[in-house]
Amino acid sequence: MIERLTAFFRSFLLYELVKGLMLTGRYMFARKITVQYPEEKTPQSARFRGLHALRRYPNGEERCIACKLCEAVCPALAITIESERREDGTRRTTRYDIDLTKCIFCGFCEESCPVDSIVETRILEYHGERRGDLIYTKPMLLAIGDAYEAQIAKDRAEDAAYR
Ligand code: SF4
Ligand code: SF4
Repeated sequence: MIERLTAFFRSFLLYELVKGLMLTGRYMFARKITVQYPEEKTPQSARFRGLHALRRYPNGEERCIACKLCEAVCPALAITIESERREDGTRRTTRYDIDLTKCIFCGFCEESCPVDSIVETRILEYHGERRGDLIYTKPMLLAIGDAYEAQIAKDRAEDAAYR
């Protein structure tokens, strides 16, 4: 009986509605936490795993030695490598493709690379409009590495300091 009376008065006095409006009112004056992307951005970790890049040494020589460890470890089978031996006896890739529609950004390729060649950058704003746009080739990956080398080197140094 008491329960039914309580329910009646709660309903009569619009208790649930008032309770909801009080909650709304409390958040109306609280500090706003919505980030106005893309004008505002949240901080990123040095370990952020975004778009891939292939790095070079300071003398311009590409780091990748075509060992194919990254291709072997990739759980998504997103990496395709072909290689050849150069005249100086070193081995280099003739093809290095990453299919970003398959990639799950796990970072295994980066972890497996013995020469810090393939890395994941902080870049997250990229897109493709046509089929094949998200297959990144070796020249594209090297171009990203060249453009962002300073940030990549800084992030790698910061990451190494954590370990
Ligand atoms: S981040 Fe992971 S899934 Fe993507 S290419 Fe590297 S190993 Fe493959
Ligand atoms: S990117 Fe690194 S792991 Fe992949 S083939 Fe080149 S050297 Fe080997």
